[in-house]
This record gives sequence, C-alpha cells and structure tokens, in this order.
Amino acid sequence: MDRGADLYIEYDGRRLLNLASNNYLGLAGASELRDGAIQAVQKYGASSGASRLVTGNFALYDQLDRAVAEFKEQDDAVCVGSGYAANLCVLTSLADRNTVVFSDRLNHASIVDGILLSRATHVRYRHNDLEHLAGLMDRYVDAPRKLVVTDTVFSMDGDVAHLHELVPLCRDYGALLVLDEAHATGVMGRGRGLAHELGVQDEVDVHMGTFSKALGSYGAFIAGRRDIVDAVRNFGRAFIFSTSLPPAAVGAGLAALELVRSNQDRSERLMLLSSQLRAVLRRLGFDFGPSTTQIIPIMLGANDVALAARDFLMDHGVFAPAIRPPTVPEGTSRLRLSLRADLGGKDMDLLCAGLEALAGESGR
Ligand SMILES: *Cc1c(COP(=O)(O)O)cnc(C)c1O
Repeated sequence: MDRGADLYIEYDGRRLLNLASNNYLGLAGASELRDGAIQAVQKYGASSGASRLVTGNFALYDQLDRAVAEFKEQDDAVCVGSGYAANLCVLTSLADRNTVVFSDRLNHASIVDGILLSRATHVRYRHNDLEHLAGLMDRYVDAPRKLVVTDTVFSMDGDVAHLHELVPLCRDYGALLVLDEAHATGVMGRGRGLAHELGVQDEVDVHMGTFSKALGSYGAFIAGRRDIVDAVRNFGRAFIFSTSLPPAAVGAGLAALELVRSNQDRSERLMLLSSQLRAVLRRLGFDFGPSTTQIIPIMLGANDVALAARDFLMDHGVFAPAIRPPTVPEGTSRLRLSLRADLGGKDMDLLCAGLEALAGESGR
C-alpha cells in the first residue's frame, strides 16, 4: 500500500477510495501544512536533538503550547511526542498507587497502558454505562484520589461519551475528569472537541488531543489548569525522557491549528457527509451501531462476512477495513468507514454504489 493518507490509495495495483485513514479533514496533504513543515525545517533542521527539558525546546515549541492553550481556552498546555505518550504522561503524573482510575471499557489501548504504568487501581466500567460507573464509584468512595478517563469519540463504534452526565458524576464523587479527544479534535466543537461541542469545557480537568488525526500532522497535547499541566511537565516521564517533536511536525501542527481555528467548512462538511451516509445505510438496511460521528461501522457479525464485504467493496473501488476480534468483541466484526471532508460528490457516489451492490449481494 502506498500514500495511505491520501483520498485514493494504491493497493495491489488498484486505485481505491480510502476510508481507512484518520486524516478526517484531508489536512495531511494541505499546502498550508506542507508550508508550515518546510519553513520549520528550513529554520531548525530535521530534529530537535534532545528532550525539551534539555536543549530540545525551541521558540516554535513554546508557541505551539500557547496556541493550543488558547485554542482549547485553558490556562496552559504542553505538547508531547504522540497521543500514546500523552496518555502515559497524564496517567502517570496524575495517578499513583493510592488512586482509583475508572476507565470506559472501550477506551484506547494507550489509556490502559498509562493506567498500568501508574500503578493505580484500574476499574473498568461498561461502555458509556454511567449507572454502572456510579455503582463502582460508590464502592471506592473512600479512595484518597479518583480519576475518570474516557475517549470522547470511540474509535471502533463512532459514538460519543456522555459528558453531560459524566461531569456532574465526577463532581459529586470528587473525581478528576480526563478526556481523550483524539478523534474529536479538529472535528467537533469548532475543532476544539466534544467538550466544547457540549459546552462543558470548563468542567473538564484534563483535555488531551492529538495532531495525528484530523489535524494532519503528528504529536499530541495536554491542556488544562496550570497545576495539571505543571504536573505533566514535572512528572510525565514520556515527556521528560523523550526527544521533543521534530520541527516539521510542530510547524505543520501550528498551521493546522490556524486553519481549523479560522475556518469550520471542513468539519461542517464532514458532519454533513456523515449524516448523509448514515441515511443511505439506513435505507439499505445496514446496522451502523450507535455511530453519530465521522466513524461509521457497518456491523456484520462473523469474521468471514466482514472479510467478504471488505473484498467486495474493494472490487467496487472502495477500501473500508474489516475490524475483527480482538480489536472488537467476538461476534461484532464490522467494516469501519472513516469519512473525510475531502470526499467529493463523485467519491460519495462511488461509495454509495458499492454499498448498494453489497446490500443487493447480501440479499437485504
Ligand atoms: C490514535 C489514538 C491515540 C494515540 O495517538 P497517536 O498520536 O497515534 O499516538 C490515543 N487515544 C486515542 C483515543 C486514539 O484514537
């Protein structure tokens, strides 16, 4: 496979519409990001050469931290090497062996690893089941420190966390609320994430997001109150003991933030395309689960059915990956469609024709 972030990929000598990438806004190839990266490389070179706490802290990096803090409307922010590293930083600097961390069962693997590394007590609640969470929080009501962590957009189902209920629950139980906005950043809430979309941004303690998905670059950020961000800077080992981002990623990240801040056309188009596609799927009798976002699963159940559907769509010029256990629970194999804002009318027609044929094939 080549050019996997582009709208069309080359696969086995075929040209396929790419619905597998997280390049949701199509920014990875945008001229503004290319220019941002090139200018940063011309000024600073290809590497930062060290951790930010040693000599790897260039003015450009402080500028990115400030731009994120402003964009997220938080006191402070710090950018780190990747989303994976950001979750390790957050969890290891805010949780310890006296902490209980409550985590949605469908949270990203980097959250799970961060909890393990923090040595906190790891309590998983059923996906988006806040009654279950409240029951578990009752059980640990005397714990010295509590933290609730959730993805805001879930990567395999495309549904969203119930923040309107999570916020008061965390307040009542004295728990910190940590959000992983990896799939919502650039997309929801004028690009700021689900917390902004729902207007609860001031009631969230930690806002984590990445530059690697809709923002079309690489790296991640942690934004919040000054004491929270200071804790990450001082105790986040994945930040302290790791070389800072390459200048190209920072230059592209700054350009992406500026684009998303000044113009919502792409994210609005993405949301429009997503609801149009769900309407088509509904008409064709496909089950897209609880999706309300640009991530749209087509639930097929058995592995071989999902694989056959993937191959069928490939024969119709569309690449939608088949997701199978252990990534998703047994018996819930699916195609996972990641829509993107740069899909034009003809591309949507190609996709809909493929889906229509698939529905006919499977006798719907
Ligand atoms: C992709 C992702 C990450 C990891 O981000 P990278 O920048 O790819 O390391 C973390 N959390 C969630 C929810 C993700 O989807």
